Amino acid sequence: MTNRRAIRPHPYHEGRNRTYAQPVDQAEPVRTPASWVVVGLDNGGTSNNATVLDATGQFLVDHLVENPSLVQEGPESAVDALADAFRNILELTSTPITLVRAVGLDTPGPASATGVISSKGSTNFNQVSWHGFDIRGALEGKLGLPVIYNNDANAAALYAHHRHFGAEAMKRSSVAAIVGTGLGGGVVESGRVVSGAAGMAGELGHVQIPLHGVLESDQPMPACNCGFEGDVESVASLTGIKNNLLPYWLSRFPDHPLAAEPIGKAAKLLRGYGEKEDPLALAVFGQQARAIGKLFTIAANFTDPDAYLLGGGVVEAAPHFRQWFLNTVREATELRREQQAVASFALVADLDMAGARGAAVAALEQMQPR
Ligand SMILES: [Zn+2]
Repeated sequence: MTNRRAIRPHPYHEGRNRTYAQPVDQAEPVRTPASWVVVGLDNGGTSNNATVLDATGQFLVDHLVENPSLVQEGPESAVDALADAFRNILELTSTPITLVRAVGLDTPGPASATGVISSKGSTNFNQVSWHGFDIRGALEGKLGLPVIYNNDANAAALYAHHRHFGAEAMKRSSVAAIVGTGLGGGVVESGRVVSGAAGMAGELGHVQIPLHGVLESDQPMPACNCGFEGDVESVASLTGIKNNLLPYWLSRFPDHPLAAEPIGKAAKLLRGYGEKEDPLALAVFGQQARAIGKLFTIAANFTDPDAYLLGGGVVEAAPHFRQWFLNTVREATELRREQQAVASFALVADLDMAGARGAAVAALEQMQPR
């Protein structure tokens, strides 16, 4: 009755199967009495994803295990749903609750360093009852276990760092840019997320960058939803493509097939054109890659990390296209010779479990002596 899929032979080995939690064959626990675990819970707009990480750094779950998050029903239902996800993942991995030392939780931001949702709410937490709600404290009260909080971008960056460096992770530093609807990411120093005084460190998307060498001379200044102009997200995100880059480039390629599509749909279709080396698509993605290179140049002068990591939709693209994108980022990142000798650039794939896994890594780090 062993469910081998639920047992992880190697840390950070990835499975791709998306599974909704339901009663399945139980994993046979093989543990010494001294072993303990942490649970990672990733809270999203529609579902929670859960994982278990043991004290030796092995994940006990190799696939997505999701439950409805009930975020739209308000904080009370959502905290209950997180507690359900917690119990469910313990059941699925045959982990006794007595072995759990802490829980890592991540949610979309903006939220404070201690997991208090912004007083203005956010896209996921738009009900008034969410505004200023202490989701970390509420879950901690419900479970009776320490809950360690990170925003989802920082959790993903932490996971990307550990996946990239493996056993060396606690000695290394990285900056991760994750290109999606927005531009997320984070800064990791000696294996730990830099969260900042107010929890707002690593908001890489809203770093304003020099646009010389990124934009064309007649291109309008790109605007971001945050109110800034010319920040990284205003160029290097799906929202930036839709609002800023694609409208401009379609004016340069008026006969392009995407000109006939609604702009939101056209933005999503663009990657497929990029993979076919369509000139308009390469112009747009080239601008995105150079914008990320400008961000990494700032990082090089600010924290001088061991690794520059790149994740998100572009990493799921065809291999020749994602390699071209990474190379363009690297060429646009101005490193000194000493930095070039030690720094690495890498794509971090399989980020669908990154939130839960990064949250779990943060909880494990918190429970281990520095
Ligand atoms: Zn912004």
